[in-house]
Amino acid sequence: QSSLTIGLIPADGIGKEVIPAARQVLEALPSDLMPAKIQFEDLDAGFELFQKTGTALPEETIQALKGHCDGALFGAVSSPSHKVAGYSSPIVGLRKKLDLYANVRPVLSAAGAKTASGKTRPIDMLIIRENTECLYIKDEELLTDKDGHKYAVAKRKITEFASKRAGQMAFTMALQRDAMRREVTLGERIWKHKPKVTIVHKSNVLSITDGLWRETVREVYESNSEFVKSVDIEEQLVDSMVYRMFREPEAFDVIVAPNMYGDIISDGAAALVGSLGLVPSANVGENFAVGEPVHGSAPDIAGKNIANPIAAIRSAAMLLENKGYNAAASAVYRAADKVLASGKYLTPDLGGNAKTTEVTEAVCREL
Ligand code: NAD
Ligand code: MN
Repeated sequence: QSSLTIGLIPADGIGKEVIPAARQVLEALPSDLMPAKIQFEDLDAGFELFQKTGTALPEETIQALKGHCDGALFGAVSSPSHKVAGYSSPIVGLRKKLDLYANVRPVLSAAGAKTASGKTRPIDMLIIRENTECLYIKDEELLTDKDGHKYAVAKRKITEFASKRAGQMAFTMALQRDAMRREVTLGERIWKHKPKVTIVHKSNVLSITDGLWRETVREVYESNSEFVKSVDIEEQLVDSMVYRMFREPEAFDVIVAPNMYGDIISDGAAALVGSLGLVPSANVGENFAVGEPVHGSAPDIAGKNIANPIAAIRSAAMLLENKGYNAAASAVYRAADKVLASGKYLTPDLGGNAKTTEVTEAVCREL
């Protein structure tokens, strides 16, 4: 019997509630679905840890992940909006240190969940967000001009290398996802057309940075005959992307975007399916993956046992999928879908009054 070692990094706020929920679900997987024994390793990181110890991402955590973990689950971190000397976000650091170059974010409508518009719309998008550069290189500077007025400048870095990897991931996943989705959704696959990749950019204004992004992703496509044959591509400027996504979310399949556009689009997409508490993600590199709910630490609801654990549970399923445990991953997705569809275990973000622990137990029972 093989084994799978998962590092658990709850970090801050509701991370401390939803990561234990995800662990409980993984522990409930029967051995016919999950052939490997899962071992967990509790690891520290976060803003609260920084306040106590002066480090947000301890070296031991990185060493444990690199040394003997096969993957990890990360909760959320309470990064302050103002600059704090010596602090930088541990998840941004982890993505860099482990070279997790793509953030993969499936956004699927769920039966039973009320959406932003109050209507249920069929949504089945996969957002691939470049994860290592763009404005998130955090090269900012506060300066003063000759008249004593303050101004601030930030650098935005786009490389051919990172754009190529993100593009490659997008087209590859567009091809793979057909079969995958059929396995994991309750009913029919929602996207019924030829796989499509939408390239998001703003190269009408940022012709050099976004121009390089756009051209590189297009080159990845054009230089692969399989992609050209089996995948359609389209381009969308980021602002009209937001508009179209809200008007006709059913028009999108795979979306590939530079880091910051991807961040913003995916939070918006979460509103379309009802709640940030439903949307999982995986930070994926060459041979390591970190599952991470898209939401933050939600200080407004932390500690009340009302956070929606589904995003974290689905992130655990994404990690299983990334490690090749497809049967276990499908079972977790399906159990979560069933619990949502029953309408009996909805947390307050979805209009219900179920507790985090009740939803988690219901998902475990479905396994
Ligand atoms: P947030 O995602 O924490 O919360 C936004 C809103 O959604 C809040 O009303 C919250 O209650 C709700 N919400 C989020 N997750 C939920 C869940 N699982 N169940 C029910 N409701 C949920 O975003 P924010 O308020 O902008 O940020 C709060 C903190 O989180 C900040 O310090 C921010 O830096 C941090 N943050 C961290 C990450 C990360 O760790 N990757 C991502 C985004 C924000
Ligand atoms: Mn975000």
